[in-house]
Amino acid sequence: MDVLIKNGLLQSATYFIGNYIIDCGDGDAILKVAKENNIKISGIFLTHCHIDHIYGLPKVMRRFPNAKIYCSEMTHKGLSDETLNLSYILPEFSFPFAYDDNVVELTEGVHLIDDMEIEMIICNGHSNDCQSYIIGGNLFTGDALLPFAKVFTKWPTSNKYLAIDSELKLRQLADVRRLTIRSGHWQK
Ligand SMILES: [Zn+2]
Repeated sequence: MDVLIKNGLLQSATYFIGNYIIDCGDGDAILKVAKENNIKISGIFLTHCHIDHIYGLPKVMRRFPNAKIYCSEMTHKGLSDETLNLSYILPEFSFPFAYDDNVVELTEGVHLIDDMEIEMIICNGHSNDCQSYIIGGNLFTGDALLPFAKVFTKWPTSNKYLAIDSELKLRQLADVRRLTIRSGHWQK
């Protein structure tokens, strides 16, 4: 099961890998895919805290209250900070983050989650809380590497020099390990 959901807000992307999702966009679309495929979502991996990658959390967490939310300490911090997660720009999508007990903070490196090996890679620059994940043959890059666009580095916590380093690191990783790049946005 390997599905891309084309979210409505800012064309962000959510992916299903088995019982897990990467980023949490349109809650209704995510729950529909879960229902149609009889999936109980057990974990949500976040690539960063920006609102277009997290706005579906209330709906998904209401349906799957035991799901874990995997992310870095910095992303965790941003989930309840409207300046860091940019929800102050899009107040209609903002929500009070009430799932601290579900959060599992990950550090860079390889983790065994249930039976699945995942590797988390810190790749700051787009924001100061960017992480990518290697799961199977996939590299989920969030907004740190977009195959069809330049990485956006004009947010308050962006750093364009770090972003260049991160992009290069991710491209090399994908090349050397022959990973499929799955970025945090889809293209029309
Ligand atoms: Zn972003």
